[in-house]
Amino acid sequence: MLYTWGDTRRFNSYAGYMKRTFGGRVQKLTVDAGFTCPNRDGRVGVGGCTFCNNASFSPGYCIPEKGVIQQINEGITFHEVRYRRAEKYLVYFQAYSNTYAPLDYLKSLYEEALSHPKVVGIAIGTRPDCVDEEKLDYLAQLSEKYYVNLEFGVESCSNETLKHINRGHTYEQSVWAINEAAKRNLNVGTHFIIGLPGESESGIFAMINEINRLPISSVKFHQLQVIAGTAMATEYGHSAESFNFYTLDGYLELMVRIVERLRPTIVFERFTGEARPETLIAPIWGKLRNDQVLVKFEKLLDEQNTWQGRFFVE
Ligand code: SF4
Repeated sequence: MLYTWGDTRRFNSYAGYMKRTFGGRVQKLTVDAGFTCPNRDGRVGVGGCTFCNNASFSPGYCIPEKGVIQQINEGITFHEVRYRRAEKYLVYFQAYSNTYAPLDYLKSLYEEALSHPKVVGIAIGTRPDCVDEEKLDYLAQLSEKYYVNLEFGVESCSNETLKHINRGHTYEQSVWAINEAAKRNLNVGTHFIIGLPGESESGIFAMINEINRLPISSVKFHQLQVIAGTAMATEYGHSAESFNFYTLDGYLELMVRIVERLRPTIVFERFTGEARPETLIAPIWGKLRNDQVLVKFEKLLDEQNTWQGRFFVE
């Protein structure tokens, strides 16, 4: 069966979206441009979000001192050995808040990345309180020539939860940033954490309804993970009973229910996070990699003969 997003997979996958957009496989390359974050440097807060340990998400070749082009070249070499099919690359500014700097500096970094002959676009991870109209106008201009994806860490639609995890911004700030970016025709990505302390399953489904109303292009979910060295690890040590982790099977079932309710036009970019095993305190799901979890998820969709947006209500 061909679904409304144009292929036969049961959800609007990121791989399918990339293929439709670029006509072939495009590999994302992470670079670390040496940004910091206003929730760490004192402008908004100190200590950061309680779950955050940024060291857990940059590949080894990402060292800011190397500069953008060297990281891109090393990233291409790294990926060529593993995935020979990729000919085009998307540079992903991932670590910390990648719009948190003066505009001229941002321009020089993004345009340096886009000057690489194998790079067809950029993806920029940031916080909703680190964009303003001037930066968004510039990104809109850039997107007339290149693919630009702006990804906001929203994490939750509940201000109570955002406060609890010391996020340092409200849900309303996320809505403002998403609307302003979408108004300028940028591809807007979002990131949410599933299972934050205090969030019930009915709250999660209410959040999906809310997400459906946002003018976003893609969504990433990941399961709550407690990482060593974070404030959340300390909280977990003191009150483990306030955490409610899913087993892998329970989480996959929940993801099926989520995807059935998700607007079909939203690209379902990812639904699990993969922390380094030596840093992960909970939940422990065994040694499955993300691609193996994906196979299990697709099998579940097949078995239940269900698909993205099956129960989506406009
Ligand atoms: S998760 Fe993002 S916003 Fe929060 S402290 Fe870490 S880098 Fe900053």
